[in-house]
Amino acid sequence: QSFELIQFLKMLVDEMEPNKKEGQDIVLNYSQPSISVCLDPKLLNHIIINLLSNAIKYSMEGQIIGLEVDANDKELFIHVKDQGIGIPKANQKKLFERFYRAENATNFQGTGLGLNIVKQYTGLLSGTVGFKSKLGKGSTFSLKLPININEYEKDSIN
Ligand code: ATP
Ligand code: MG
Repeated sequence: QSFELIQFLKMLVDEMEPNKKEGQDIVLNYSQPSISVCLDPKLLNHIIINLLSNAIKYSMEGQIIGLEVDANDKELFIHVKDQGIGIPKANQKKLFERFYRAENATNFQGTGLGLNIVKQYTGLLSGTVGFKSKLGKGSTFSLKLPININEYEKDSIN
């Protein structure tokens, strides 16, 4: 069944409140006020929480985290942006592997499992995940997910 994505993300952002560092803010941005999606909300919940947790953890106090949403009739795009420590080029290739952690992350508590879960769950939703990062400047993790409008709904639109 389908659900309202923006509403869902607003709730998620509120849930992350206690995890934020002093002065950090999660800013939700969206191109459409209402996006109805048909995908497993539990999987999406785990994916977004993992990405937001990383953005919070690998950013400093007072830094802004962006959650940006865009969609067309077939695909949904979600970007999680931070202004944090970034990821060294040499560590980027293996980032989604289990237990892999970048060399500049050792001061931060973690096991290296979160992104592997993100990758697996995104795959279960038939989507893709990627990232862009600059050491010392920040990172953006991007999800592309098909919006599974079912045949019945399609018929009623056309
Ligand atoms: P956990 O299992 O608790 O999530 P983790 O955060 O170390 O531990 P992942 O979420 O899998 O593990 O991330 C893997 C590595 O990728 C991190 O250790 C860190 O080096 C790097 N990383 C992930 N997200 C970011 C980010 N937003 N900014 C900088 N580095 C990041
Ligand atoms: Mg993590």
